[in-house]
Amino acid sequence: MRIAILGCGQLARMMALAGWARGHRFSFLAEPGEDPAPVEGLGEVVVAEPNLSPELLYRALGRPEVITPEREQLSAELLNGLAQLAPVYPDGRALTLTQHRAREKTFINEQGFATAPWQAVDPHTDLDALGDLLGWPLFIKSCEDGYDGLNQWRLDGPGKAPKLNPDIEYIAEGGVAFERELSLVAVRGTDGSVACYPLTENRHQGGVLQSSLAPAPSLPEGLQAKAEQMAHTLMAELNYLGVLTLELFLVEEQLLVNELAPRVHNSGHWTQSGADTCQFENHLRAITGLPLGATRALAPSAMVNLLGVTPPAPELCPGAKVHWYNKGVRPGRKVGHINLNDANEHSVRASVDRLVDALYGNA
Ligand code: ATP
Ligand code: MG
Repeated sequence: MRIAILGCGQLARMMALAGWARGHRFSFLAEPGEDPAPVEGLGEVVVAEPNLSPELLYRALGRPEVITPEREQLSAELLNGLAQLAPVYPDGRALTLTQHRAREKTFINEQGFATAPWQAVDPHTDLDALGDLLGWPLFIKSCEDGYDGLNQWRLDGPGKAPKLNPDIEYIAEGGVAFERELSLVAVRGTDGSVACYPLTENRHQGGVLQSSLAPAPSLPEGLQAKAEQMAHTLMAELNYLGVLTLELFLVEEQLLVNELAPRVHNSGHWTQSGADTCQFENHLRAITGLPLGATRALAPSAMVNLLGVTPPAPELCPGAKVHWYNKGVRPGRKVGHINLNDANEHSVRASVDRLVDALYGNA
């Protein structure tokens, strides 16, 4: 099939690499000025010039049979225009909700699921009083354009309010004293069937994912089923197609939803070598109308992000599988990741700690 991906970063790259193996062909949409190096050689790249109508864009993308977004921040106008010409999965509704934190959290709460306590704020809000109400540390996040901890501030106590831009929408969230951060990568197919990977444990540094362990070790009884039930409800309500990721906080055996990502996710990269079917292939299966592949973990698995660093010497991580994104190395930039599998969860965790220590010195 001919598939257009709206984006040209590493997620687009890995979707295309999984799809080429199945005989699909790809085209990609790049923002003006964006470097499409991650998808170099994998298909046509079209630049989203502002004057390009959906029709012209559709033609430039090679009249794709199906279109899939790589990122949330795409205009509803573009998505709805393209949807007149070819199916867009996940669709404009899912993206409109997840690209805006206040809309997203309202939707999650309406489905009966807990989030951190939150409230919309503006430059006039008394953030000191709000911190006392919602709980310190107080997180201020822009509603749009937030990823990898960008456009958000953590206030540890009163008197530290940042200067908010009156033209931008924000929310404030009470800090959650979570025991662990988890994520659930789920996929829903055309027949409405849903498959979920095992819950994954994620560690962040400075708001950026540094490593993941899967299946997340020693989870409370029934937690996987609870998370899967959440995914079923959210995806059915959205009539969702493709991969959806739930970022979760585990607090006293309860799950709070941090955010939803309407796409394949960094915390699902371990599935490339640790699961029956990887998240990229399953996303493509869902959007091309194929039955979903099995999501079982084959072995204790882990993923370590390469953030502004090149892969370490092979002897540091025997058996590691390096995925390089063809990007230039800049401080903190996600330029690749390493997947690891081991005989048991203790040895895989020890390998992650060794690797993180060697790369960043903070294991
Ligand atoms: P990404 O797109 O990479 O997932 P993001 O920029 O959308 O990140 P969030 O997921 O909201 O940002 O936050 C990034 C990280 O900051 C979280 O994974 C968590 O470690 C921490 N964090 C965010 N909100 C809270 C909160 N309310 N309580 C405690 N920690 C938080
Ligand atoms: Mg997040």
